[in-house]
Amino acid sequence: MQRFEPTPEQLAVIEHRGSHALVFAGPGTGKTETLARRFAALVVDEGVDPGDILVLTFSRRSAQQMLERIVLRLRERTGEELAVSELFVRTFHSFCARLLDGDGPRFRERNLLTPIKERLLWKRIAGRVPLRSFDPEVRESPAFAADALNLIAQLKGQGLTPSDVESAARRDGRMTDIAALYRELDAERTRLGLSDFRDLVKDALDALELPDSPASSWLRARAGFRHILVDEFQDSDALQLRLLEILVGPTRDQRSPVPEICFVGDFNQSIYRFRGATPSNIETVRTTFACDELKLSLNRRSAQAILDVANATPGLKPESLTRAEDESRPGSVALFRAPMPDDEITLVCDEIERRIRAGTPPNEIAVLLRVSEPYQSLIVGQLDARGIPVAARPSAGFLEDPVIAAVLGAIRLTDDLDDFDRWTRLLTNPLIGFRAVTVRFAFDAARRAHVENAFVALRANPPTGRVSFEEFLRHWRAVEAAARDKDADAASLVATIAREFDLLWPVRESAAAPPGWDARSSPSRLGSLVDAARDMQAMAFALRDGRIPPAQFADGIDEIAGLLSDPTETPPADSGGVRVMSIHAAKGLEFDEVIVPQAVDGVLPQRARGHALLSDASLRALHAKAPSFVASPDEAYQEECSLWYVALTRARTRVTVTAAEADADDIELPLSPFARGIVEGALKERATTSHADRGFGEPAAPLGEEVQARRPVTHVLGRLSPTGVGTFLTCPRRFFYKEVLRLEADSDEEGTLLGRLLHRALAAFHEEHRTFGPLDDLEAHRRRWRDTLYELSDSSASAVAAEMGLAADSGFMRYQRALARQYFDDYVGLLARESQEAPFTVLSCEQRLETVIDGVSIAGRADRIDRLADGTLAIRDYKSGRLYGRLANAVRESLTELDGGGQVAGNAPEGLNLQLLLYIPGAQELYGAPVTQVEFIYFRGKADGEGLLTDNVRIVETPEGSDPNGFLTRADVDRVQRELAAGVAAACADGRLTAFATALDPGTCRFCGYVQTCPGPRTVAS
Ligand code: SF4
Repeated sequence: MQRFEPTPEQLAVIEHRGSHALVFAGPGTGKTETLARRFAALVVDEGVDPGDILVLTFSRRSAQQMLERIVLRLRERTGEELAVSELFVRTFHSFCARLLDGDGPRFRERNLLTPIKERLLWKRIAGRVPLRSFDPEVRESPAFAADALNLIAQLKGQGLTPSDVESAARRDGRMTDIAALYRELDAERTRLGLSDFRDLVKDALDALELPDSPASSWLRARAGFRHILVDEFQDSDALQLRLLEILVGPTRDQRSPVPEICFVGDFNQSIYRFRGATPSNIETVRTTFACDELKLSLNRRSAQAILDVANATPGLKPESLTRAEDESRPGSVALFRAPMPDDEITLVCDEIERRIRAGTPPNEIAVLLRVSEPYQSLIVGQLDARGIPVAARPSAGFLEDPVIAAVLGAIRLTDDLDDFDRWTRLLTNPLIGFRAVTVRFAFDAARRAHVENAFVALRANPPTGRVSFEEFLRHWRAVEAAARDKDADAASLVATIAREFDLLWPVRESAAAPPGWDARSSPSRLGSLVDAARDMQAMAFALRDGRIPPAQFADGIDEIAGLLSDPTETPPADSGGVRVMSIHAAKGLEFDEVIVPQAVDGVLPQRARGHALLSDASLRALHAKAPSFVASPDEAYQEECSLWYVALTRARTRVTVTAAEADADDIELPLSPFARGIVEGALKERATTSHADRGFGEPAAPLGEEVQARRPVTHVLGRLSPTGVGTFLTCPRRFFYKEVLRLEADSDEEGTLLGRLLHRALAAFHEEHRTFGPLDDLEAHRRRWRDTLYELSDSSASAVAAEMGLAADSGFMRYQRALARQYFDDYVGLLARESQEAPFTVLSCEQRLETVIDGVSIAGRADRIDRLADGTLAIRDYKSGRLYGRLANAVRESLTELDGGGQVAGNAPEGLNLQLLLYIPGAQELYGAPVTQVEFIYFRGKADGEGLLTDNVRIVETPEGSDPNGFLTRADVDRVQRELAAGVAAACADGRLTAFATALDPGTCRFCGYVQTCPGPRTVAS
């Protein structure tokens, strides 16, 4: 631990006696150290019994850090060890629990209302309380549950009872409903003897009002405390302040009070109003307690260059501002703007890579976000792709973690032993480790032999993997026995599965850890799953629902998975990678390097938004009862200022601020007012500066390679996608916007989302289901295909929603899921038909293929490549849109146009989707067989309600058949490549195009995402 002499300011706090003290302590001023030394000084210099000093914090992490520091300083001063149990270094909540125990048995098991129990209780009561203003669909949604429970927690933190809310409601139906739910939840909680953290404080206050309560008796017997030290006081709420007032009693505004309270806080770092924190408590204490005011202003963390910028944040209280202890220490703040959000993500990752190459350890770099998604996923994804380690993200991907997937998969299988698809998923789980090809072989062989028993199938052709199948089977039998045990609960079954299958083996063999395993998160996720099982079972018993069958537990876990970790949770201290997290989660941490993306007005500061459940009038009515309840617009803005200040002051040496210039819709993004003083594109370095010199707004000398040049616009492209070729032919101007300028189109979010969902689910589906040939038990297969697709559709929907920053449980997403299921019903029908009439085997999905034409690489991914019964190939493409024109017809029309001396670019007939024809050379080379079919599968058909429609084109040597839409000759395909694609490729390769023509036919613009940008059809000629 770093050893340093206390500053005069710290000494003043350590040695202050005789009255309450209010200490304004800014970031990096060593308040934990100062409080620990004050504690030691009270014990050693004043002879105060350590048990007579109460230290209160707001998080277990802070309490633990404080405890460790106090024990260290006491040991230094006394040379003796002190039993930790003698010390009262606690969170407010654990101290209140101790108070409530009184002289009764200590550390008794407390029936805590965990988030999972609370959610289950909510489900029970929300269904039975009659509500006037929320319709049944809303009240059943997880989003409503989360908003309402959060609101009730805040009301509780302000000491507002259901009756208070009811009386404030007057004729407001929503507030009346909330009051009714609050009352019922509280009554049920009390009936079941459950308490949450806020109840502990409220119950302790109620107990202290009664002179004969165990809490009052215990406090009297020990004559209270002589000193109380409160850390991070700005995070306290109304009830916590009330507790301190009761503990100090009538000596609140007197000299020589008992106990003496030392409040340490920083109004400028108050960022937890959403959890009910009441920073005005600092002002309240200032006026109602007789406090001496002290300050800690010497910052040992941040360079002065950073503090110059941070201290200029609007609305900061001057009492807590800090200055660098060593003002000559170099530091910098830089602002970079990127054209679009995608460029900003790249810019952030480039900066991280550069700093790591320059020697900064990854865990000394933090990216701090005001709004986590989608930036967090995008940055983490890009860092992963670059091989840069990222600190564990406990809240990400819970259900996708292989440990969780293996446990839930095994539980579900105990309920249906002959589900081949579930067996496949379990056996090929990376932690179970059987080779996918051997598992598939076993089940394919079983299907051909009409064997339905999974064990018979697997025994006949045992798959190979980490362990022998016989050994796996021995462990499986133990799992089955545990699942059949009528007395066993889900928690013990989870533990049995983890033990029998040795799911934590990568902990021992870290070098061989499989994909998806996260050394820091996976084991704790397993622990969370066990806790969740215990909580669910405890609630089921309390509500007299009896034992939860394991399969019911597995089904119920989907809904509560989001509660199993806190998205604002900080990665563990020993995490070795770059931290990408919210500003809220970074409170209390420090790094060499901090990057603050999204510095645009509307994100940081965030735009004021209405309350999710209550009207402004309702909020005002509640405000009248509890002035600290819900921030006023000014207070909300002040909190945004604090978030900026907290983000900057996490850095020791360097801050990089980034902002996109325009959003995905090409709408200009104004720079955050907080960042306007930072010189753009250059670093503000300072070797020496005075505190008074706040000139970060003046131009600074550019620092060579530190300055990021804007990307030049170019239309010389060495690479094209097949869809890019199609876009060029449809409208060169659209191509220019999309492929050259890379402008984000006005998105058809529904189409994009559904397309991604369909592609993801179908790729996963065909990983398992590859062979489609004549089947006797067709109906059974249809059912199985449909069940798997439904399952994959739901999981894909959740994943895509997360990627696109959408709420998975919104009405929009529910509609998308329902639509996908409808499409998959049709798709199952198509598979069944083709199994009988045109058998095929899926060779690959999302296969990357590349063809080089005139020096330009045309590369993309084919949705599906199949081998047909005659050994030739078919390339298929899924379309979530409608069919507007047939491919064969469009190709012929285009070739005729060329033959007549006309042009196709900007004049392409509908249906000229060339990508499948451009994939042909790559697919033939990859699989060594000719492509004889290309097919588009249009899930929406041609018209409403028509259902799935295919545009199947055979590739033949000479014209055949009576339907001209049914075939193209190889000569046609060659001309498509030589004349159409090569023309686009040549134009892109030599950059000779200076003007990109607009489309000739206004109908082409019907679904164009650049209508707002473009001068319109027929306005620019080639
Ligand atoms: S609006 Fe029409 S002309 Fe303009 S880019 Fe789009 S398709 Fe082309």
